Amino acid sequence: MTKANVTPMMVQYQKIKDQYPDAFLFYRLGDFYEMFNEDAVKGSQLLELTLTTRSHSAKNPIPMCGVPHKAVQNYIDILVDQGYKVAICEQMEDPKLAKGMVKREVIQLVTPGTQTDTGAAGAKRNNYLTALTMPGENQFGLAYTDLSTGELKAAELTSMDTVVNELMSLQTKEVVVDETIAADFQDRIHQLGMLISHQDEIQGSSEVSYVEQDLDTPTLKQVVGLLVTYVTVTQKRSLAHLQRAVAYEPAAFLKMDHSSQVNLEITQNLRTKKKSGTLLWLLDETKTAMGGRLLKQWLDRPLIDRGTIEDRQAKVAALLEHYFERSNLQEELVKVYDLERLAGRVAFGSVNGRDLIQLQTSLEQVPQIEHTIEELGDPIFKSLLQNLDPVSDVADAIREAIVPEPPISVADGGVIRDGFNAQLDEYRDAMRHGKTWLAEMEAHEREVTGINNLKIGYNHVFGYYIEVTKVNLDKLPVDRYERKQTLTNAERFSTPELKEKEQLILEAEEKSVALEYQLFVTLREQVKTAIGRLQKLAAIIASLDVFQSFAVVSEDYHFVQPKLVAGHNLKITQGRHPVVEKVLGRQTYVPNDVTMDPETNILLITGPNMSGKSTYMRQLALTVIMAQMGCFVPAEAAEMPIFDQIFTRIGAADDLISGQSTFMVEMQEANRALSHATANSLILFDEIGRGTATYDGMALAQAIIEYVHNRVHAKTLFSTHYHELTALADSLKELKNVHVGAVERDGDLVFLHQMQPGPADKSYGIHVAKLAGMPNSLLSRAEVILQALEDEAAQSAPTLSVTSAAAEPDSAATSAAVTVSQPEPETEPDPVANETAVDQQLSLFG
Ligand code: ADP
Repeated sequence: MTKANVTPMMVQYQKIKDQYPDAFLFYRLGDFYEMFNEDAVKGSQLLELTLTTRSHSAKNPIPMCGVPHKAVQNYIDILVDQGYKVAICEQMEDPKLAKGMVKREVIQLVTPGTQTDTGAAGAKRNNYLTALTMPGENQFGLAYTDLSTGELKAAELTSMDTVVNELMSLQTKEVVVDETIAADFQDRIHQLGMLISHQDEIQGSSEVSYVEQDLDTPTLKQVVGLLVTYVTVTQKRSLAHLQRAVAYEPAAFLKMDHSSQVNLEITQNLRTKKKSGTLLWLLDETKTAMGGRLLKQWLDRPLIDRGTIEDRQAKVAALLEHYFERSNLQEELVKVYDLERLAGRVAFGSVNGRDLIQLQTSLEQVPQIEHTIEELGDPIFKSLLQNLDPVSDVADAIREAIVPEPPISVADGGVIRDGFNAQLDEYRDAMRHGKTWLAEMEAHEREVTGINNLKIGYNHVFGYYIEVTKVNLDKLPVDRYERKQTLTNAERFSTPELKEKEQLILEAEEKSVALEYQLFVTLREQVKTAIGRLQKLAAIIASLDVFQSFAVVSEDYHFVQPKLVAGHNLKITQGRHPVVEKVLGRQTYVPNDVTMDPETNILLITGPNMSGKSTYMRQLALTVIMAQMGCFVPAEAAEMPIFDQIFTRIGAADDLISGQSTFMVEMQEANRALSHATANSLILFDEIGRGTATYDGMALAQAIIEYVHNRVHAKTLFSTHYHELTALADSLKELKNVHVGAVERDGDLVFLHQMQPGPADKSYGIHVAKLAGMPNSLLSRAEVILQALEDEAAQSAPTLSVTSAAAEPDSAATSAAVTVSQPEPETEPDPVANETAVDQQLSLFG
């Protein structure tokens, strides 16, 4: 910048900008927010604004662009949605009254994690801001908050992987770190698409000590302190709605890593990244935004505590049975607005009259809701009802004060009801009836004085006056009348009463607007004191909403209440994949049993490609998740243990994005399952090993199965196209074969999508070739080759060597696998041709 264009304004600008180097600075200049320099260059591109310059005459003009202040929110949203920060710099005094430079200050720093105006699209999603600290090796503090609702939770975690997993599950957009988080870990988080924000000092504000009151470890206190400090520093506004931090124990929930959540399409469709086609989409019959968010939270964290799960189930059952009360409840819930976010806006001071009316309308539903729940007559709701505070005092206060249809702005009047405040009524009276009033006064004065041509008039200089012609002057009572102006043949007077009226009329409008605002703020402050109660109420309503949603889907899709058993018995009768069933239609979908008694831990699933193996596995995982959320499940009957963790290795599209080879990811995920799973876990392995050479893959697959069988004892579904593995059933007693049936019907091969006991008939490949019309001679040749391959495999098959491995754990299994991966050259005359033939045959299976 040359000296020539360093105006005082640019000096001020630069000083402020220096404090926010990583944000776009929106600098208020009259009716616009301006950006300068690099901000302007980049901002004009991102926001499609015209780039101009300031100081045209100067040698180095300053790039500049601006947005109108009335439309600023749109522009902020665009930038923040793309992961940028925006510092809003306001004029802190009226430019007309300012002496010298207008004082300016940043009033808020909007960041991806602190954005609260997420609009209707974000109503059913939380926007979480997370803070992270690392006070010691393998010791992490993690805290998160949704500023729009005030939710605030904290946990202690013990590994980077669990931290990453937690961040991904929360879908947090911004992570606040202090200096304890190393640069390479920050990079790793950044690579997940999250913005890293730095906050090094923790400020001890009253807000911090309030929210961290219930936390009992230094790690939790510290990370919450960091989070709240960052929020306080950036938001510069009241955070009265921040709830007391709740410590949570990740181990108290069904553990599922993020890739499993993604692969099972719990809340996000794999292809579209949207909600449609997911379990959330299917289950979401919630009527309120709060219920929608809670449902998503429950989906992300199914329970492991039997009592809580059964409590939820009982509530769903009660609502399912009582159709009439349930539909009443739905009608009432529809009228409940987003209490949590309304409470947030009350705290921020950004509520308007319409918001308060929404709050009132919502609160007015509560007694009805209470009544409806009482009508259910089920003791399961007893404690819920006991804790239900309808906060009717707030509803009453709003009803008394605010007109039913207030304008959006609280600054232009018309918000407060008539009759609410005597002073305001007087102002309004003055405004509305000013004319009549003067006419009445004129009539009255004429009567008492007897002067018939006495009149009341108005001029700009003297205001209101009573005019009396000179001939009538002697009739005036001297004491009350004060002379204001003398004309040729008349005198103008004022009286104390007229003066008072004049004041009222002239100032009525201005004053009434100001008073209305003041009354509004008083009311807002009054509501603010009830924020904690509103949040509690919101939580109860949200849970009722989720329960009714579960009841609705349970009825619509014929779900049943699962029985949670203590042992290891898993028996699902005629289970379905709820989402595939919804898409295909109930008529088309073929239900399937999953039967694993306490002695059966592994189901080895074989069957042709596209027959439904992967659907079957996903179906079980979704059933478990639904059951442990407290929902009913898609089956005719279900009996299942409570699982502690779910591990999945199901081929996924997002492997490509992570930059690692599919096979590597596959092995990593398998390894995670093998090292963390317990006998109470569920493992789903879909065609593990297909990413490498045939024997290599088969060897690994078998070794993995053996490992699970001999050491982990988790309930495991393992689908494979290595038909050879089915022989493992002979040696591994906890393993059973199942396969997906197919039949030939009128010359067509029809997949029944039906699970049947035993291994698959493996002639489908040639069968399909036959259906494709290949020459008979070719098909018989294929049969011969297949037979030869099978005979050969029978001699050197891994499954044979392993009969002993099963009895004796690991060391034997390892050596068996080694033997097999190095076949003798002379037993395999043409290895290349052979492999190709096997591959072709196998590919028809997978
Ligand atoms: P695989 O894993 O064996 O290749 P998938 O599980 O991907 O097969 O299923 C392939 C397709 O078959 C699915 O997209 C679905 O349309 C259909 N399908 C799967 N299971 C069933 C079922 N039980 N009933 C009806 N159709 C099914």
